[in-house]
Amino acid sequence: MQKLLPTSTAGSLPKPSWLAQPETLWSPWKLDGQELIEGKQDALRLALHEQQLAGIDIVSDGEQTRQHFVTTFIEHLSGVDFEKRETVRIRDRYDASVPTVVGAVSRQQPVFVEDARFLRQQTSQPIKWALPGPMTMIDTLYDNHYKSREKLAWEFARILNQEALELEAAGVDIIQFDEPAFNVFFDEVNDWGVATLERALQGLKCETAVHICYGYGIKANTDWKKTLGSEWRQYEEAFPKLQQSSIDIISLECHNSHVPMDLIELIRGKKVMVGAIDVASNTVETPEEVADTLRRALQFVDADKLYPATNCGMAPLSRGVARGKMNALSAGAEIVRRELLA
Ligand SMILES: [Zn+2]
Repeated sequence: MQKLLPTSTAGSLPKPSWLAQPETLWSPWKLDGQELIEGKQDALRLALHEQQLAGIDIVSDGEQTRQHFVTTFIEHLSGVDFEKRETVRIRDRYDASVPTVVGAVSRQQPVFVEDARFLRQQTSQPIKWALPGPMTMIDTLYDNHYKSREKLAWEFARILNQEALELEAAGVDIIQFDEPAFNVFFDEVNDWGVATLERALQGLKCETAVHICYGYGIKANTDWKKTLGSEWRQYEEAFPKLQQSSIDIISLECHNSHVPMDLIELIRGKKVMVGAIDVASNTVETPEEVADTLRRALQFVDADKLYPATNCGMAPLSRGVARGKMNALSAGAEIVRRELLA
């Protein structure tokens, strides 16, 4: 990016009410067949338009073509039985009924490549595309085949790499892997989590990002956050390994959280997407609040490596609130941009 402090969102944006129930996570589609395909494309156009109106620099599809950031990808793979469900504990936090791995996993066809190509046709701005990371994928499944979290993660890494290479060929500028599980399973992150992530981005020439957050503003997450104490030091566990890794950008939750800003020093040299918008609150930040978060981050990240962003996705918010937050992000970044250029 040539522009100083290029803005982006972490990923998801609210869906229009004619496509899926708003302000609800993972709500079912209201259309089907060809109408659904066209409806998703229209929603993608709207999500892009709203980002452009707000002045967002690196744009995305707003995840308008997927119901869930992990399972929509997994649904396209073979080896996973969605009828055979087991209850597992997700990220050590809440129980969910999840599909079962019943055989060797493989990707029979591209998952998001057509959607990415469609987004590419709509804009000449840099585009970012999110995929789930290997560790977060295995945490959202019951494995009755490999019986090893690590083995399954390597298999998913290989599959994600196939998809990522095709997304790059479709014109995606930044491929982002969502790894909220990196904030929970510290030993595994260091043993094989970062290694499998690097396998997923092997051979890519476009930029790569990893998004590590404390999740959407849903109850299971806000309850969990209450148990974390006054200082959230989870990032400290994965950062040294990530600093050494080949990943280009690290996307973090920073605003209204209890993450000590100085932890960013541990990834010095990387580009940092600094979350300056709280997605767990309906209160729209003022541009000055955004600017304040960015100024604090600037103590630990060089200005040319600071990418203002949201803490996480905004899918569960109302469209008006999401719009307001994107406007605040742009306006706050502009305040700091002017200060830096003055
Ligand atoms: Zn997130």
